[in-house]
Amino acid sequence: MSGQNSAFCAPARTSLFRHISSLRASVLTGALAAASSMPAHAALDANVQIVDSGNLVSGLYGQIISNVSAALSDWGRHLVGSAKIDVEFNVTDTLATAAASSRASAYIGDQGGIHVYGAGMAYKVDTGVDVNGATPDIEILCNPNYLRNELWFDPDPTLRQLGVPTDKTDAMSVFIHEVGHALAFNGWGSSVDGSLPGNYASTWDINTVFKGGELFFVGSNAVKLYGSDVPVTIGSNYHIGNASGVRSDLLSDVMNGVSFVRGSRYDISSLDLAMAKDMGVSVLAVPEPATLWLTVAGLVAIGVVTRRRQVTLPA
Ligand SMILES: [Zn+2]
Repeated sequence: MSGQNSAFCAPARTSLFRHISSLRASVLTGALAAASSMPAHAALDANVQIVDSGNLVSGLYGQIISNVSAALSDWGRHLVGSAKIDVEFNVTDTLATAAASSRASAYIGDQGGIHVYGAGMAYKVDTGVDVNGATPDIEILCNPNYLRNELWFDPDPTLRQLGVPTDKTDAMSVFIHEVGHALAFNGWGSSVDGSLPGNYASTWDINTVFKGGELFFVGSNAVKLYGSDVPVTIGSNYHIGNASGVRSDLLSDVMNGVSFVRGSRYDISSLDLAMAKDMGVSVLAVPEPATLWLTVAGLVAIGVVTRRRQVTLPA
């Protein structure tokens, strides 16, 4: 459709333990501090390492680093903890658009006989403990053609005031979405019905219920804010909203699993934050109608279960 970039998001079928590629012909490391306007108690700094073995997007390194860093800072404005997040940004044509995950997970506890894990990034932000040491905390994968031809890189990604070109997709919106996957919107449940592959689950997985042929996020804060169970994107777990009917009210959400409209800018919503709170992320506050201060998540132990990546695919 003209003027739109339909982007289905489907989970990548990776194993629990992911092998790290040794092909790193070209690596650029950059670090940008959070904007000075960020509150000191809620800053997420980024240390972005670009892995681009074919030098396919060498002209974009600075813009990638600035936009990924700003996306992390954007989430950081809403979180209690502060941390420097090590990001591996992998340029790869193994997917059509983008994907992301935390590299490791933190064991939280058992619930109904299920071992529950939170994202390593959330654990680091909450506790300051890096569950996988020197290994990058999160991984973002992005197709080189998507980077070169589709995305628009905001020259001032902190202010976000310039108009997004009507023939481009806002890279900041995409990176905020992907960082959301790395932070909490992720797990191992089936794309269709959320069924688990074993006796383990993510903090998202344990907050979803399959009923009436649809999957819903049923965390109490999200339900209170939204007014009902939150519809998960049909066939694309770890996203919210659907293309038609009453579910279409969520298509403006940055974590929607249907599309990003070209020329549009997406940001973290109150619902995203309420869902993050339900998933144990220490969020500063969930704005109206419920302004609540949140407690630190009860993470009690550490695991190293690599999480499934979430993939954004063009229709
Ligand atoms: Zn996604």
